[in-house]
Amino acid sequence: MNSITSELSAQSRILDKDQQFVWHPYSSLSAPIPAYEVVFAEGVNLHLADGSQLIDGMASWWCAIHGYNHPALNAAAKAQIDKFSHVMFGGITHAPAVDLCETLVNITPRGLDKVFLSDSGSVAVEVAIKMAFQYWISVGKPDKNKLLSLHNGYHGDTFAAMSVCDPVNGMHHMFDQVLAKHYFAPAPQIGVDELWDEDDIAEFSAIIAAKKDQLAAVILEPIVQGAGGMRFYSPEYLRRVRELCDEHDVLLIADEIATGFGRTGKLFACEWAGVAPDIMCLGKAITGGYMTLAATLCSAEVSRGICEGEAGCFMHGPTFMGNPLACAVANASLELLLSSDWEANIRRIEATLSTELLRFDGIEAVAQTRVLGGIGVIEMKVAVNLAEIQKQFVAEGIWVRPFGKLVYVMPPYIIKEEELSRLMQGIFNVLSTA
Ligand SMILES: *Cc1c(COP(=O)(O)O)cnc(C)c1O
Repeated sequence: MNSITSELSAQSRILDKDQQFVWHPYSSLSAPIPAYEVVFAEGVNLHLADGSQLIDGMASWWCAIHGYNHPALNAAAKAQIDKFSHVMFGGITHAPAVDLCETLVNITPRGLDKVFLSDSGSVAVEVAIKMAFQYWISVGKPDKNKLLSLHNGYHGDTFAAMSVCDPVNGMHHMFDQVLAKHYFAPAPQIGVDELWDEDDIAEFSAIIAAKKDQLAAVILEPIVQGAGGMRFYSPEYLRRVRELCDEHDVLLIADEIATGFGRTGKLFACEWAGVAPDIMCLGKAITGGYMTLAATLCSAEVSRGICEGEAGCFMHGPTFMGNPLACAVANASLELLLSSDWEANIRRIEATLSTELLRFDGIEAVAQTRVLGGIGVIEMKVAVNLAEIQKQFVAEGIWVRPFGKLVYVMPPYIIKEEELSRLMQGIFNVLSTA
């Protein structure tokens, strides 16, 4: 075999075995859709086994904000791996974790003073929910054991997280026997720049008033509802939620796993409304997409309540808690972000996306387009055929992964104007001929 045919057969071997053995996110093993094999990635480019190169519009699901193969992040990982990759966090501490927690407290909204590290976003949400429940048990109000969430919300795939995801998208009917029952308010309808109307919060307001004795916390994604619909909503809604939580003695959990670290144009989306939650979840971009890591922050009031209660401690402790390798890369990623003019950069991406998306409004199959910060959304009139459209995007040299009616991008922050234009041109070519 010459080298090209041997490479091709190696490639099909991987793809065959992939279909035989490997489960991908939300995928069927009975009717698998072929995956694309990445062999190298650098900057905004994914290099495939067949030699083609794709501009990544997804930042690997919000994570790879500095792009791939970044020298500073590589160096941080290598330096830490030569010291120690992991040690248990029970009774042991280390600089990478302590530095990270200090930075997170300093950059997040005021009052979030304590940090619990975990391995993934869903676990950070589980931890947040457990904090809220344990807080109320500890302060002698165990009946406050329900949550209030929003339609179109997404908070992860584990069971507590799933129980507060959109009931329809999250297929609550199928898991009816096993999911905890919580309350849901309608999704906010008023957009970021639209005139506020108190009606938008009326039903939320009625539910929290009626159920306050049962409610431990409200949980929501501030300003941007991500995987539950890619919807942007008014900061006034969030401000009113904060007021209503205070009025009715209910904790507020802000899930900033997708929005955190600058994506919306603010470092954290809560800043759009100038509010601080009682508990905040972070994940995704925290390590610049290098390692799996998440954090749940809470107020000193919440931590005191928990620790002075019956258990005398918070009842949680993942094996890989505070993984030094992940923390070291997170520190390097945050240093890169905070030492850059990330705000101007996100404004640049936002301006280009806004201009580029204008012409999509002329496409018959497009229902609506919207932009906030480094997020561009094209909502189609009907759901796209994922397998088919993915092939067309790849043929255009771009990586975009729609869900349902939503074709959207949130590229690495380092994307250049010319790359962003090529990305949007590729999407335009596919959607305008659909
Ligand atoms: C992705 C996401 C999660 C879940 O994070 P995982 O790391 O996938 O477990 C939770 N909440 C929001 C808002 C997310 O975008």
